[in-house]
Amino acid sequence: MNFIKCCYIWNEVLIEQCDRLPAVYGRASLIHDLLVAYNLHKNIKIVKSSPATYDDLRKFHSELYLDHLKSFSVVDDDYISTPQDEEYGIGYDCPPVSNMFDLVSNLAGGSITAAKCLLLGITNVAINWCGGWHHAQRFGAEGFCYVNDIVLAIETLKLKFSKILYIDLDIHHGNGVQDAYNLSKSVFTLSFHKYEPGFYPGTGSLEDIGTLAGKGYTCNFPLHACYSDDTLEYVFQAVFPAVYSQFAPDSIVVQCGADALARDPNGGAALTARAYCTCVKMVLDKRKPTLLLGGGGYNHANTARLWSSITALVAGVELDDNIPEHNNWIRYGPDYMLHIEPTLARDLNQVTYLDACIDTIKDNLKKYLENNRTEKPRLETKTGNNHTDVSMHGKLQDANIKHRIISKSASSNSNDTESKMFNKGNEAKRLNYNDVYDFVE
Ligand SMILES: [Zn+2]
Repeated sequence: MNFIKCCYIWNEVLIEQCDRLPAVYGRASLIHDLLVAYNLHKNIKIVKSSPATYDDLRKFHSELYLDHLKSFSVVDDDYISTPQDEEYGIGYDCPPVSNMFDLVSNLAGGSITAAKCLLLGITNVAINWCGGWHHAQRFGAEGFCYVNDIVLAIETLKLKFSKILYIDLDIHHGNGVQDAYNLSKSVFTLSFHKYEPGFYPGTGSLEDIGTLAGKGYTCNFPLHACYSDDTLEYVFQAVFPAVYSQFAPDSIVVQCGADALARDPNGGAALTARAYCTCVKMVLDKRKPTLLLGGGGYNHANTARLWSSITALVAGVELDDNIPEHNNWIRYGPDYMLHIEPTLARDLNQVTYLDACIDTIKDNLKKYLENNRTEKPRLETKTGNNHTDVSMHGKLQDANIKHRIISKSASSNSNDTESKMFNKGNEAKRLNYNDVYDFVE
């Protein structure tokens, strides 16, 4: 099996399903099309995702919630949420859609497939821009998020990696992931977000550092409105190396939610791609198996600009600032440029405030994690009553993971699929379907 530096998770069904997400309607294909327009697929390996099964989803979500999602087959435009829907967070910001279970199983399957690529050692960076839905809870939907693909991916990574660092760059606090690992020492959650009265979800204060055994393994950096590239880079460069050195993770997950970009309609920060790329580069420089996920991002064109820039960073290629003409080119007007202009909004974060937060975070790391590096990593078995150290080989056997990836055979019916997906009138930008790798049993 060839070692792949970076893989990008794709499946025509994954894109079609994620295009149906009400909060980011049509965004998945916009992003994929820009990657293809930039020929980025020729610099990274494309791995075809498989949908998650009910059992996969059950590893985090409750059966009651999953069964409720399964009950949505045809949802009319005038559907009115029932009290039971509301019990599961369905309605308001998470409206039901037709064939809901197909959507969530494909969405979660993308991130699980990405995690498996890292788990099996066939890549050291895996990207799923359709994932990153960090607000979803075990028992219900929340904040545009129906299924927590991040937790499901981390649970997959835990089959091999004993210490996982989760970093959240979305403008909103990554509450769903933090809640899932609030008591855990094996997953350290680190979130940088806007923290202002009335701003969703309202959690993620500096004092929010985990509970009981997990105390100290949660870190939140609450930022004031309009934080700029300079601010995020300043705090990330102070906090990330400290967390990395104290926690010593063996795998890293980064949620690259794009709603902290300037001009995001649900945001209120002032980032450009620069700060995101600085943070991602610092993570990649650690050369640990890394999973990059999407998340928020409600200015779709800017989100596509950002995630193309990050993909190029991972692939080690430079992109022309002039966006290539393709079927969605008109969406990038009036300038048709890749770079994102910063706003003139005043950054409300003073250096004295940032330094005080950094000092508190470093004190907490010292207080709660000082013995962490000397602890022997252990993996938890699903079968035993006690936690047991097991070899990676044994662990993978336990997990019954038999997947591998193969290059798509040239004799497959690829032409039909290709023409269906990429018949956009631009021969040069078409994806060569023979370059797509399949997960197979
Ligand atoms: Zn967000």
